[in-house]
Amino acid sequence: MSGKKAVLEIKGLRTQFFLREGVVTALDGIDLTIYENESVGIVGETGCGKSMTAYSILRLVPHPGRITAGSIRYKGIELTTLDQDRMRSVRGTKISMIFQDASTALDPVFTVGDQLGEVISLHQRVYDKKALQKKVIEALMLVRIAAPEKVITMYPHELSGGMKQRVMIALALSCSPSMLIADEPTTALDVTIQGQILKLLKALVAKTGSSMMLITHNLGIVAETCDRICVMYAGRIVEDAETFELFERPSHPYTVGLLSAFPKLGVKQAELPVIRGTVPNLMKPFKGCSFVDRCDKAMEVCAHKRPPRVEVSPGHFVSCHLWSGGERPGGT
Ligand code: SF4
Repeated sequence: MSGKKAVLEIKGLRTQFFLREGVVTALDGIDLTIYENESVGIVGETGCGKSMTAYSILRLVPHPGRITAGSIRYKGIELTTLDQDRMRSVRGTKISMIFQDASTALDPVFTVGDQLGEVISLHQRVYDKKALQKKVIEALMLVRIAAPEKVITMYPHELSGGMKQRVMIALALSCSPSMLIADEPTTALDVTIQGQILKLLKALVAKTGSSMMLITHNLGIVAETCDRICVMYAGRIVEDAETFELFERPSHPYTVGLLSAFPKLGVKQAELPVIRGTVPNLMKPFKGCSFVDRCDKAMEVCAHKRPPRVEVSPGHFVSCHLWSGGERPGGT
C-alpha cells in the first residue's frame, strides 16, 4: 500500500467492559490501517470483536464499556480524545455506518423523504424545499430505487427489506463520507437481494471514492467485495492480507480452519471440517495466544507469550509463533 494515504489508523486499541462479574476485554490490542479507496473486510465468528471495532471507531461503545488503550486516527485526527461535538461531526460527515438491520435504524414515524432530507440539509446545507427534494430523489436514484418520487412519501414499514437497506445506504452516503462502515449489511435479507446490495455497495464505493470497512462472518461476501481481509479471533486481529493472498496462502491456523470450514461445491455441509473447541472466555486475560486451546499446532511458548505480528510477505501480516522467525513454517 506504499504511496496510498491512510484514512484510518488504529494502533493498540483495547476496549473493555467493566461488569460486576469481572472485566471483559472485547478488543485486545487491534492494529489496523485502512487506505484511501480501499475496501477492507473484517471477518470472524460472532463475539470476536468485529462490531465492537466499528463502535470503538465511532466512539459508540455501549455502557459499561470503554476504550482503555490505544489510538484511532482518522486522517491524522486522534478520535479517542476528540470532544463530543467534533466527534458528532466526524460521525456522519466523515465516517458513516450502515447497520445490520435497517428496520431498527430507520425512524418509523418519518417518511423516507423526511429522513433523507434532514440528513442532506444538515450536511450539504441545502435549505430550499425544491432543491432539497431534488437532492433526495438523486440520493435514491444513486442506490437504484425505482420510482423515487413515490418512495419519498413512504414510511419505512411500507418498504421491503432490500429497499430499506438501500435507503440506509443512501442515508450513509448522502454526506459523502470518506469512510463507510458496513456491519453485516445483508444479514437480514434473502440471498438474491444480498447479492444486489453487495454489488451496489461495491459500485458506490468505487464511484464515490470512499474507503469501506465491511464487517461480516461470511467469507464469500468479503471474497467478492473486499481488497483486503482482516481475520479476527477473540478480540485480536490474527491475520491481515490482500484477499487473493489470504485465500491462496492462509497462514494463521485459525484462518486455515475457517477456510476449510467454508462451504464448497460438491461437499456436503456435514462433511466439512470444523474447528474443535469453543471460543475462549474473554473475561480471562490471555498471556499468550488466544487460539491456543483450539490449535493443533500449539507449542509450549503459545500459552505464555503473546505472538508478535509478523509481516510474512509484503502486506501480509500474521500473529502466530509459527511465524516468529518471519519464515513460512513447514506444514502450513
Ligand atoms: Fe497455534 Fe501457537 Fe500459532 Fe496460536 S501462536 S495459532 S497456538 S501455533
